[in-house]
Amino acid sequence: MKVLAKAQREILKLAKSLSNSLGLKPIHFEVSASEAEARTGSLRTRRGVIETPVFMPIGTLGTVKGIRFEALEAEELDARIILGNTYHLWLRPGAETILACGGLHKFIGWDRALLTDSGGFQVWSLGDLRRITEEGTEFRSHVDGSLRFLSPEVSMQVQATLGSEIVMVLDECAPGDAEHEIARKSMLLTARWAARSRAAFDAMQMKGMDAGRTVSPEDLSGEQALFGIVQGASHMDLRRESLERSVEIGFDGYAIGGLSVGEEKSVMYDVVEHIAPLMPKDHPRYLMGVGTPEDLIECVARGVDMFDCVLPTRNGRTGQAFTSRGKLNIKNARYARDTRPLDDECACSVCRRHSRAYLRHLYATGEMLASILLTHHNLAFFLDTMRRVRQAIRSGDFTRFRQEFTVRINSGD
Ligand SMILES: [Zn+2]
Repeated sequence: MKVLAKAQREILKLAKSLSNSLGLKPIHFEVSASEAEARTGSLRTRRGVIETPVFMPIGTLGTVKGIRFEALEAEELDARIILGNTYHLWLRPGAETILACGGLHKFIGWDRALLTDSGGFQVWSLGDLRRITEEGTEFRSHVDGSLRFLSPEVSMQVQATLGSEIVMVLDECAPGDAEHEIARKSMLLTARWAARSRAAFDAMQMKGMDAGRTVSPEDLSGEQALFGIVQGASHMDLRRESLERSVEIGFDGYAIGGLSVGEEKSVMYDVVEHIAPLMPKDHPRYLMGVGTPEDLIECVARGVDMFDCVLPTRNGRTGQAFTSRGKLNIKNARYARDTRPLDDECACSVCRRHSRAYLRHLYATGEMLASILLTHHNLAFFLDTMRRVRQAIRSGDFTRFRQEFTVRINSGD
C-alpha cells in the first residue's frame, strides 16, 4: 500500500512538472458577454464547466442539508459546484478519515466540482474561544472542546486532503465595523497568511497530496486551483491594498471576504461596487457568504461572478420560502387553506405538485418532508434566478431584468 502511494505521488510530481512546462492552469475562465459591469462566462474545472454568474449551494458537513445529490444534479437544479466547509469536516469526521475514504468527492459520492473554504471564517465566528497569533489561530473545538490549531499550512493540508477543485487561502476577518487601525492589522495578517498559503499549497501540489485528482481535460493542469481573499472591512484604501497584495502573490481567482458580517447593506454594496471592477478581469470574482436573491442581482450588476450562502437551505428548514414576490413564511396561518403553489412563477417540482396549505401542514406537524420540499424550492429559485441572470446578460437585457426583478420581489404576495 505504502509503495503504491509513493509511486502515485511520484507520478503526480512528474505530471506537475510537465503541466508547469506546458504552462497549463488548473481552471480556465472566460467572459463571453457583459453589460456594464455585469458579466457572464464559463469557468472550466477538472470536474466540469460552471456557467457564471453562479450560486453555489453550501454542503457544510459533506451534505447540502435536506436534499439528495441526485436532485442537485438533475436538470431542474443542475448545481455544477457545491461548497464544503474545511472547519467542520476537519473536526468531523476528520481529514484522516476522509483521506482513507479517497478524498471528499468519493467519501460523499459527488463527482462534480467542489469549493472548500479555509476554515478561517468558522474559527473567527467562535469569538472568545479563539486566540490569534502570527503563526495561526488556536481555538477550542465546538464538538469536543479539544484545543486545535489552524494555520495557513494546516488549512492547505486539510483542503488538499479534501481534494476540492477550488481551495481558499486562510484569511483573518475583521468585524464589519472595525476601525481603520484594527482592520489594517487584520488585512496585513491576511496578506502574510495568503503568501504562506500560496507557498504551502504549491508544495503540496508538488508532493501530490491532492486527493481529488481525476482525469481532467488535457488543456488543464489537473491540479487544485487556489483563490486569494480581499479583506479590509469597510475601508476602501485597505480593500484596494489587500487586492494589490493578493494580485502580487498571484491566484487563480479572487474573492471578496469579510462582508455580510453585520455591516449595513449599503456598506457591502459600496465595497463590492468599488473593488470588483478593480479585480483582474480574466479571473473569476467570488463574493463570499452573500446573500439574498436581491444581493445576488445587485452584486452581479457590480461585477461579481460567484456566490455562496446558507440562506436557501437554512431558511428552508425554518419554514421560509424565497419567491419571485419576496419571502414567504409557511408558518403563517393565512396559508392554512391556500391552494396556490409557493411561487406561481416557479417551475420546480415542488411548485408543480404541492400547495402552500399542504406545505404549511407538513411544517406544523414537524414532518421532515417540509424541510426537504422548502429546501428544494429555495435552491431551485436561487439557481433559476442565476440562469435567468446569465440569459439576460447574454441577450443584453440585464438592466431591464434587474429593474423588473427588484420591483416584483418587493411587491409582496
Ligand atoms: Zn418552486
